Amino acid sequence: MYDVAKNLHEVLRNLPDGVKLVAISKFHPNEYLEAAYREGQRIFGESQVQELSGKVETLPKDIEWHFIGHLQTNKVKYIAPYISMIEAVDSLKLLKEINKQAAKYNRVINVLLELHIAKEETKYGFSPDACREFLENGEWRELKNVHISGLMMMASNVDDRSQIKQEMTLAANLFDELKAKYFANDPEFKERSWGMSHDYDIAVECRSTMVRVGTTIFGPRVY
Ligand SMILES: *Cc1c(COP(=O)(O)O)cnc(C)c1O
Repeated sequence: MYDVAKNLHEVLRNLPDGVKLVAISKFHPNEYLEAAYREGQRIFGESQVQELSGKVETLPKDIEWHFIGHLQTNKVKYIAPYISMIEAVDSLKLLKEINKQAAKYNRVINVLLELHIAKEETKYGFSPDACREFLENGEWRELKNVHISGLMMMASNVDDRSQIKQEMTLAANLFDELKAKYFANDPEFKERSWGMSHDYDIAVECRSTMVRVGTTIFGPRVY
C-alpha cells in the first residue's frame, strides 16, 4: 500500500487555512480510506453509487461523503439519505430529483454547480453562459431541500500550466459574478471546488476552497 498517512500530511501541509481537502478514494479499498481516517481525514469523495454505498455501510459514520462523479437521476435515491455534498450538478432535472429525494428524508442537500470550462469534449457541466441562464431562470429558488453552495470544475488535463491557470481564473471570476448577482445574501454560497493531484497548487493560487485529491494520497487507481 502507498504510504497514505505520509502522502496525506504532505498534501495537507500544502493547503492554506480554509482550503478543505476532499480525499478522492474511488476505486480504492476500505483499508486505504481507514488509513487516511486514522490520520484525521473526514471528507472523502466517490464517483460511483454502488461503490459508495458499500463503503458507507462499513466505514465510520462520521465520514462526510461527497459525490464527485456524473450522477444519473435514477440513482439519486440511493445516496439521498446520507450524502453531504453532491459536487457535480449540471442540470435542472438532476437538481429537482435531488430536491425530491432529500425531501423524503427531511434533509437539505448541499450541491455545487459543475462548470464546463475545459477544452475537452467529454466533460459534463454548464458552460459559463448556461450557468448564468440556469440561475437567471430562477426555478432553483423553489427547491427547498437543496442548497447551492458554490461551483465545481475540472481544468483541462494538460501539461500547460498557464492554460490550467486561465481556466481556473475564469471559474473564480464567474464565482464572484454569480455570488454578487444571486447569492449576495447567502454566506453559505462559498465553495470553489477545483484542483486535483496534478494541479491543486494552481487551484490554491486561483482561490479554490476545496481541492479533490486522489492519486497523490492513495496512489494509482486499479480499475
Ligand atoms: C478522480 C477525480 C479526482 C481526483 O483525481 P486525482 O488525479 O486522482 O487527484 C478529482 N475530481 C474528480 C471529479 C474526479 O473524478
